[in-house]
Amino acid sequence: LSKKVEMTNWEKGHYVNYKKMSENLSIVRSRLNRPLTYAEKVLYSHLDDPHNQEIERGVSYLKLRPDRVACQDATAQMAILQFMSAGMPSVATPTTVHCDHLIEAQIGGDKDLDRAKSINKEVYDFLSTSCAKYNIGFWRPGSGIIHQIILENYAFPGGLMIGTDSHTPNAGGLGMAAIGVGGADAVDVMANLPWELKAPKVIGVKLTGRMSGWTTPKDIILKVAGILTVKGGTGAIVEYHGPGVESLSCTGMGTICNMGAEIGATTSMFPFNDRMYDYLESTKRKRIGDLARAYAAELREDEGAEYDQLIEINLDELEPHINGPFTPDLATPISKFKDAVKENKWPEELKVGLIGSCTNSSYEDMSRAASIATDAMDHGVKAKALFCVTPGSEQVRATIERDGQLKTFEDFGGIVLANACGPCIGQWDRKDVKKGEPNSIISSYNRNFTGRNDANPATHSFVTSPDLTVAMTIAGSLFFNPLTDTLKDKDGNEFKLKEPTGDALPKNGFDLGRDTYQAPPEERSQVDVKVSPTSDRLQILEPFEAWDGKDQVDLPILIKTKGKTTTDHISMAGPWLKYRGHLDNISNNMLIGAINAANGEANKVKNFKTGKEDAVPATARQYKKDGIKWVVVGDWNYGEGSSREHAALEPRHLGGIAIITRSFARIHETNLKKQGMLPLTFSNPEDYDKVNPDDKVDLLVTKLEVGKPLTMVVHPKDGEKWECELSHTFNEGQLEWFKNGSALNTMAKKHGH
Ligand code: SF4
Repeated sequence: LSKKVEMTNWEKGHYVNYKKMSENLSIVRSRLNRPLTYAEKVLYSHLDDPHNQEIERGVSYLKLRPDRVACQDATAQMAILQFMSAGMPSVATPTTVHCDHLIEAQIGGDKDLDRAKSINKEVYDFLSTSCAKYNIGFWRPGSGIIHQIILENYAFPGGLMIGTDSHTPNAGGLGMAAIGVGGADAVDVMANLPWELKAPKVIGVKLTGRMSGWTTPKDIILKVAGILTVKGGTGAIVEYHGPGVESLSCTGMGTICNMGAEIGATTSMFPFNDRMYDYLESTKRKRIGDLARAYAAELREDEGAEYDQLIEINLDELEPHINGPFTPDLATPISKFKDAVKENKWPEELKVGLIGSCTNSSYEDMSRAASIATDAMDHGVKAKALFCVTPGSEQVRATIERDGQLKTFEDFGGIVLANACGPCIGQWDRKDVKKGEPNSIISSYNRNFTGRNDANPATHSFVTSPDLTVAMTIAGSLFFNPLTDTLKDKDGNEFKLKEPTGDALPKNGFDLGRDTYQAPPEERSQVDVKVSPTSDRLQILEPFEAWDGKDQVDLPILIKTKGKTTTDHISMAGPWLKYRGHLDNISNNMLIGAINAANGEANKVKNFKTGKEDAVPATARQYKKDGIKWVVVGDWNYGEGSSREHAALEPRHLGGIAIITRSFARIHETNLKKQGMLPLTFSNPEDYDKVNPDDKVDLLVTKLEVGKPLTMVVHPKDGEKWECELSHTFNEGQLEWFKNGSALNTMAKKHGH
């Protein structure tokens, strides 16, 4: 057994380092002196400073060194643009970018792909050239969905990865701690900064018994989602274990971890086992499997490890489930589903069944689905509802083309879409129902929030296994239960569908299909990153200006927001997503959803110079033009919601200097610091009420120090000036970010740029 094993077949020089991980673990072990869960082992073995790091689950902030970074095409744009502004020649941590989110499903695979390539040409050109320049692996459109490609090529037991997509945890199926993050975190790791994570709690799920019949791995997570609800996993890693694990395939474990995102979990993971070994072998990574076997004791929980919460599921008794509509945690076992449909008056007719997506498009899923379709066709019947298939990767697509399942789906009446997200993320030009018309669809996806698939708020979207999706598609009805009910064959005779069967892995190995990977070239200094100066979707980021070294005086309050100000209020999603790579354009949505305390309205503030009311972004632009810096005053938990870094970039870009609130959501607070802004909180929260929207303020920044409050002098329009104390959470390193203008400027300075 050679000591050095590459992390992936696609790169050279990045090794699986179990030896170092074990060394770090023994340092941590000697300090904690207690048995550890598997999740803890993986995290603590990646600590930046295992000797001194404070470790308390649910309390401390861990500084970690991930092995990899993965970005999808929608979130990669701003992450790479920011990384570029640090002036480094290449990423410090192995990184890949995956083109999957921008491909709209219209008529089927190749044609949809060609259209996407032309619509998104400038984005793809930018990503492909910037990846080449900065030593990032680039998976072209058509390669497949990020999480499937990661599982097939990059995930490994005991590894730590961050990804700019919420379903990154899919790699937990191969024993990796894979965590979804915002672009700002990805940039840090690409630029060699340690990555911070609040030490997660650990929820144990013990699986006993054996799965069989119509029950699939998906039903485990559908059940867990029902138990824990959409919030139940927040701040925790869900760790599966127990004898029941043996009856699951590696990709099935991936499905379970993937959908753990729906309960808000930090990630989900399975300990290393033989099924993972089989999968590694079948995807040409036997050497990783062998090395993992040598370190197997460290790649599972210690005996007696304690969980913060423990759930037990007996697979012998687990029924197939259907979750929804509108929320993934409304779990109904199939035996009670018909009654639930009647009771809630959900539309009984099934309009569309969709299988695939990053959640459920393994070879096993496709084989089992095809076995049900074949059974139906043997009785002379086909899909009654529309049927769509999105293969998760080119490798799965090519393999099921070779092995015949793909033809089965087409004969059955299905449309095979491009290897991409498609209908799962609303990239679906749906034609069969009108907007506003109530209807039901069922899929093997993970998420089913209102409007997600087809932008029709009246669509009742249910999620289940691929098996039940196909069965219901044949019946065309939500009343159908394949375990008990019969269907009519072409002659009107009744028949029951056979239990699905399928191979976990292809007997003849995987067919890699078309070559969709672009490796970074050896010689990269001459690569030209393509961004058209006239593009409205992409814009090179200029480094932000450094602090001028002075107190900031006479600052207007751009807006005093009232009540909830989430990152959606600060930087709306929806149609604005198109401009994710163009800071100036997307800044036109800055704070347009926030409620102005002065008039109770959104997107209407007074320009103190003209006295006129205008939109928030327009007013900020006018101040910027006039060389006037400004502040925002906000309420409790300002910036809660997604970790979207645009919510911090936009105010910085439009000339803001400080955001002063009663309190912050932590991630947004850190994001503001990274962009060189001052997130400050009222030491006395009542002071929020005393500040009027048309006051001016001075911030005595020259006295800004770690652990000391900052003084703000308030100048009311009429009346005496008064002083107010503001708190902050800057540490020494973060103060440098403010002084240099941003965290990236600070990195660039360190690298001598
Ligand atoms: Fe996200 Fe759906 Fe794409 Fe998966 S298939 S990465 S859930 S959009």
